[in-house]
Amino acid sequence: MAVYDTNNIFARILRGEIPCKKVHEDEHVLAFHDIHPQAPTHILIIPKGAYVSFDDFSAKATPEEITAFTRAVGAIARENGLAPNGDGGGYRILTNIGNNGGQEVPHFHVHLFGGRKLGRMIAKD
Ligand code: AMP
Repeated sequence: MAVYDTNNIFARILRGEIPCKKVHEDEHVLAFHDIHPQAPTHILIIPKGAYVSFDDFSAKATPEEITAFTRAVGAIARENGLAPNGDGGGYRILTNIGNNGGQEVPHFHVHLFGGRKLGRMIAKD
């Protein structure tokens, strides 16, 4: 399993060394706007614990951390007006894992996209 790099950019955001546009913070979770948004709403949600990816988080995080993270993702979507609403609303969550997954920052994060129709699934290339 991958070793956690304590100098990755999200670790530095968690330590307050780099600013972020924060949208949510609690005991276990931080969420902030992506610096290069790919949808009208593009929020990154990260656990405060040192987990490399979802692979790492799903294997090692405590039940309390997993519950807090899952609850936070849903709450942040609702708080930002993205919840499904009749024929409108709705959003996508995505997490890239490792090399084939295209993960660039080695601290587990979920992308939350919304605010427009997002198309089907993933790019073909
Ligand atoms: P991934 O490819 O899933 O690892 O996604 C990393 C994401 O982090 C990309 O969408 C970047 O735009 C975003 N990102 C990188 N640096 C920052 C930063 N300092 N603040 C906010 N988002 C960032």
